[in-house]
Amino acid sequence: MKTTSEILYKAIFLDRDGVINQEMGTYVYTWENFKFESGIFDFCRKATSLGYKLIVITNQGGIAKGIYTREQTEHLHKQMQSMFSAEGCSLTGIYYSPFHKDISKNIMSKPSDWMITRACSIHKIDPQQSWMIGDKPRDIAAGLRAGCRTVGIGAEVSPNLADRWFDSMASAAQHFFE
Ligand SMILES: [Mg+2]
Repeated sequence: MKTTSEILYKAIFLDRDGVINQEMGTYVYTWENFKFESGIFDFCRKATSLGYKLIVITNQGGIAKGIYTREQTEHLHKQMQSMFSAEGCSLTGIYYSPFHKDISKNIMSKPSDWMITRACSIHKIDPQQSWMIGDKPRDIAAGLRAGCRTVGIGAEVSPNLADRWFDSMASAAQHFFE
């Protein structure tokens, strides 16, 4: 019989902008500009019912650039978290990198796997049973480095870069779990 310490969970790691909420082509740091992608809650409810933990992994380089603050980011994330809970798919964690490569070097931002690997260690997650979903090549790179399988969403990720590819979250919600 396995002891508790040997049990490893599986997770779906979600990029934020362009996966959870619509990519606006600019930094999103207010609730007014935070528009959920259609299909995101369907997708996350199905994932939850199959035993996946849901964890957000997001670069928020606008903080390093002084465009918005950590406090604004965390306030927005609380509102986002409440919506997920209300929709029946609570988030296990939210990891964001406040750094930006144009401002300073850092080990945290994607394409580094730092945030995913940290989340795996904190929440006892097996990366090999887990998926990273993103709309940018750096999301896929971070997932691969962490040892996860990957899902690309939309035109900026080449379909042959990721293990699975969908043109939208709505389409992923419909077909990923088939
Ligand atoms: Mg994105």
